[in-house]
Amino acid sequence: MPKLELTSELEAAVSAVRDAASVCLSVQKNLITAATLEKKDRSPVTVADFASQALVCSSLARSSKVGAVVGEEDAAELREADAEETRDKVVEHVRNVRGAGISADQALDWIDLGGVTPDHSTPQYWTLDPIDGTKGFLRGEQYAIALGLLEHGRVVLGVLGCPNLPGPDGQPGCLLTATRGGGAQIRPLTASGADGAVKIRVSEIADTAAARFCESVESGHSDQDQSAQIARALNITEEPVRVDSQCKYAIVGQGQAQIYLRLPTRKDYREKIWDHAAGLIVVEEAGGRVTDVRGHDLDFGHGRQLENNSGVIATNGPIHDEVLSAVARFVDVS
Ligand code: AMP
Ligand code: MG
Repeated sequence: MPKLELTSELEAAVSAVRDAASVCLSVQKNLITAATLEKKDRSPVTVADFASQALVCSSLARSSKVGAVVGEEDAAELREADAEETRDKVVEHVRNVRGAGISADQALDWIDLGGVTPDHSTPQYWTLDPIDGTKGFLRGEQYAIALGLLEHGRVVLGVLGCPNLPGPDGQPGCLLTATRGGGAQIRPLTASGADGAVKIRVSEIADTAAARFCESVESGHSDQDQSAQIARALNITEEPVRVDSQCKYAIVGQGQAQIYLRLPTRKDYREKIWDHAAGLIVVEEAGGRVTDVRGHDLDFGHGRQLENNSGVIATNGPIHDEVLSAVARFVDVS
């Protein structure tokens, strides 16, 4: 197993996520129209999802020492005869970034590089959500390209590309990065290398009455009635910040909110590793804490899902235990 050089892996991840973000922005500009919105047509997100995964996987194949990628997508659906229209659009968008000479087969093979199912023979692997927050993407709101690196079940590096979240220069579009023990940073999405990167820290608030919390826009992803009860118990008066995707981790990591509540809406739902790996390390390296609703660490050592966890609670740290006590009053944590 190669010894990981986190700084060079970080730059590989940043460059991969920047390529993917450019394709997401171009799909958003060219394929999301009033007509697709009206019809609740999900095809633009399908195209961007696949093209984003193709670009991240091809970029990592070139510049990372870690070959395995556990992505949310695979190309099986695109290889079907009746998927020609979507396939052509995906390939066109991949060509816009990688060059006109890229064949359709090459683009599909890149997507399938992300089809790894991790087991004990893959101690190091990337986990990718090519578009996290698909509903936010379609609404023109927040979404993220989320790339995390795992080593022996521990997240050691994360990059969150957030095309619609303001960066350190106040302009929309930022990247959040974190390496284990190396802190967390924010940089503009479209700069080069680490240009404009600044360190981020969580908020220092220790009184929950002064805290703000964030949660999913989608009530099917996190129980919003329970979060309102928890907020009342903690004397929180601010309205929740409802945002799609791992941008919630970005917001806590930058100190713009102190709490992220993700409260299970179904007992049998298991969180996916690509929905949390990058966000978790951003918050932890910014000084915060992340557990599940029972206060257990998120356990990334069981394949594609967080098999041993239920929900997610991320905070700035000082208020974590108090938040967990309030969660235990209203959420069935058995
Ligand atoms: P968010 O934007 O925070 O609402 O999260 C989006 C993610 O929620 C998607 O990437 C899905 O993997 C995930 N998801 C889908 N169904 C559920 C569910 N029932 N509970 C929690 N998360 C879910
Ligand atoms: Mg997701």
